[in-house]
Amino acid sequence: MIEIKDLSVVYDQNITALDHFDLIIKENQCSVIIGQNGSGKSTLFQTIIGLIDFQGQIIIDDIPVDSNHLIQIRNKVGLVFQNPEHQLFMNTVYDDLAFGLINQGIYNKDIQHRIDKIAKDFKINSLLRRSSHKMSGGQKRLAAIATVLIMEPDIILMDEPTSSLDPGCRRQVIELLKTLHKTLVITTHDLDMAYDLADEVILLNHGKVIAQESAKTLLTNKNLLEENGLELPFRFQR
Ligand code: ADP
Ligand code: MG
Repeated sequence: MIEIKDLSVVYDQNITALDHFDLIIKENQCSVIIGQNGSGKSTLFQTIIGLIDFQGQIIIDDIPVDSNHLIQIRNKVGLVFQNPEHQLFMNTVYDDLAFGLINQGIYNKDIQHRIDKIAKDFKINSLLRRSSHKMSGGQKRLAAIATVLIMEPDIILMDEPTSSLDPGCRRQVIELLKTLHKTLVITTHDLDMAYDLADEVILLNHGKVIAQESAKTLLTNKNLLEENGLELPFRFQR
């Protein structure tokens, strides 16, 4: 569980990205965070894993997010960044996948085993020896997600995992997300995906939590979505 109390983030002393809110994100379910550009979604994720200074309190499974607990927090929570290029920095996808495991002191034999398994699950065997800089957007996205999942975090945060993917790749990512029975928190503008995946939807606007409800309730509330710069999922539009 992620417990957030009176959280605020201010950039450069004058840009309020997160504005004094409380939020509880439950475990073993999929929570989807929606909100127009600039509403604070990416800032929230980076704050949860301790990358950004904040005011207030964040507690993850009884561990406070502060400078004394960063290693525990980062072992527990994996973040898939909005931009896959922020996740892939080694020469090959294989090396990116091995990187975190080596840091965790995992045996070579087990590293090989875990890479084989994830490559099979993600159907990215043919990418393992390739340089991530020379791959398509969809391939980069799959590789970036794999580098986080291979670490087996208890809680997975994904920042816009289907943005800029073609329909086939988007479908592959969504099907993959459906197989993850973990605490999953996703930000997205893809409200059709949100409707399919979310146990709960959290609506952000101007750094505040406006609503937190079931997908069925929130994503069919046309007025609420429009007041916050969003639209109904395509399936409910005529
Ligand atoms: P979202 O992910 O919902 O689009 P962000 O968290 O990226 O929103 O941004 C929230 C607000 O914080 C926006 O006003 C944005 O311009 C600002 N912001 C984001 N990152 C920075 C940064 N590194 N420095 C200053 N302002 C930032
Ligand atoms: Mg963002």
